[in-house]
Amino acid sequence: MPISEFSLIARYFTRPVSPSSGVALGIGDDAALVSVPPDQHLAIAIDTLVAGVHFAVQTPPGDIAYKALAVNLSDLAAMGATPCWLTLALTLPSADPAWLEAFAQGLFALSEAQGLTLIGGDTTRGPLCVTVQVAGLVPVGEALTRRGACPGDGIYITGTLGDAALALAQLQARTRWPDPTADADSDAGSDEAALRARLHRPVARVQAGRALRGRAHAAIDISDGLLADLGHILTASGVGASLDVDALPRSAAFRRWERAQVLPAPEIPADTVGPADTCLPLELLLSGGDDYELCLCLPPEAQTRLAQCDTGVALTRIGVIEAGSGLHLHHADGRACPLPGHRGYTHF
Ligand code: ADP
Ligand code: MG
Repeated sequence: MPISEFSLIARYFTRPVSPSSGVALGIGDDAALVSVPPDQHLAIAIDTLVAGVHFAVQTPPGDIAYKALAVNLSDLAAMGATPCWLTLALTLPSADPAWLEAFAQGLFALSEAQGLTLIGGDTTRGPLCVTVQVAGLVPVGEALTRRGACPGDGIYITGTLGDAALALAQLQARTRWPDPTADADSDAGSDEAALRARLHRPVARVQAGRALRGRAHAAIDISDGLLADLGHILTASGVGASLDVDALPRSAAFRRWERAQVLPAPEIPADTVGPADTCLPLELLLSGGDDYELCLCLPPEAQTRLAQCDTGVALTRIGVIEAGSGLHLHHADGRACPLPGHRGYTHF
């Protein structure tokens, strides 16, 4: 017998609510009620993942749920907020118990690890689509925003860039994987798994955002590529920037792949590879998207105290905010580097 909408919600999405969660009324009424302390702002973000646009239909359901939540956590991280509650709007072609079970597991794995409570949602039938909304708290006056970057601020990045975009390029067979015999440290299988994890289960930098609240002048999370997202900070703050492309942080797996790209790659159409300076690795680092790292602008006093900040992830200085407008790229030795043609993902 097909499962009803209400038993689906009860079976897969209703879990006991902890008394310390700030939830006065959770799933089951017309709306949820939560308590917001008077000295805090409510920070709210929402993101939709559409099958065939944001993920392939055959993606494991646990990964779809995990990512739908993680991308929202990343938005709250970029505000310096502490995530507390989530709602879930799920549109499903059918109520498949195995799919729902795996989806709920992926969702609760991350929500419980981060101390979030699912407080409501909406369940409908239609083409597969997942919308998660997250709400959290940030002390009044302390939220990190895109405005406020000043000339002289250092531009910092958490973690590493380009891994998710590289994983996607591999899944779509748009790039070649290194020949293990050509690189002694290469383990193509474990590199591929590590990169794929970055695509399907991104780690939101919540701890770093909180640690740099009140210290960073501006912040954004990188979802559409560094150039596009740093561009939003520059526009909102009315400043320019220069970036050292050789300082962009790369994972070990990315570096191994990058080393292999200096060899001729006959299966990649010639028009997707620019001159040596702007070849594919740099495009993935600058415009790849799906990184979910934070880009932060730190004044000199915050930079000197970075070692004392418990960010939970490495921070790398990649450039500096400048007066004026525009973004200039250069190499470590000062040589100018042309801007790659592709400037991040936009839907329209
Ligand atoms: P309404 O008709 O008032 O919108 P619904 O029938 O859509 O209520 O939902 C019943 C209850 O279940 C509500 O509290 C709603 O927030 C919750 N809910 C619906 N779908 C989900 C879901 N996918 N995950 C969590 N809670 C859900
Ligand atoms: Mg409803």
